[in-house]
Amino acid sequence: GGFQSMGLSYPVYKGVMKKGYKVPTPIQRKTIPVILDGKDVVAMARTGSGKTAAFLVPMFEKLKAPQAQTGARALVLTPTRELALQTMKFTRELGKFTGLKTALILGGDSIIGTPGRLMHVIQEMNLKLQAVEYVVFDEADRLFEMGFAEQLQEIIRRLPDMRQTLLFSATLPKMIVEFARAGLTEPVLIRL
Ligand code: AMP
Repeated sequence: GGFQSMGLSYPVYKGVMKKGYKVPTPIQRKTIPVILDGKDVVAMARTGSGKTAAFLVPMFEKLKAPQAQTGARALVLTPTRELALQTMKFTRELGKFTGLKTALILGGDSIIGTPGRLMHVIQEMNLKLQAVEYVVFDEADRLFEMGFAEQLQEIIRRLPDMRQTLLFSATLPKMIVEFARAGLTEPVLIRL
């Protein structure tokens, strides 16, 4: 099964081709169809596995459907500003033909943001979360190691119940499994 057999729409497929990807990586092959199917996913994947495209490709597909509410429709949470910047750049490249807009929320020391900063922005700028339908916790083990657990719980509490939630992590310590149990709905566990 290549990208052409995944039933992707032309703007998304074109972005994948523009990046020069010939075949999906193993994590992409396993996660993309499940995410396209609308399921929550916990995926064990490390950097270099192609995990970013694994959650971006189905995100683009999901966001094709019109949404009546205004506001950000997808949130990607990353542990560091470097990863946030890199993921935003990647989102713009891969999603070049989708017409979607991407914004970055940087922490200091849908939107791609680091959790501490995101809560601050939500409070300060009254960023509406009612339209959020797709949430990604990227490098979740690092998010937790960095002490974002409480902010992550708080963000989850403010999100609409009707959403798709994905968690990508290199390791799955007990804390993350518990977080996934509480914040995800019957997640499909995907490992290589
Ligand atoms: P990531 O694991 O998301 O950090 O991706 C690692 C690298 O793999 C990035 O440079 C991606 O552009 C690249 N990549 C992702 N998917 C594919 C693919 N299907 N074929 C070739 N390279 C890919």
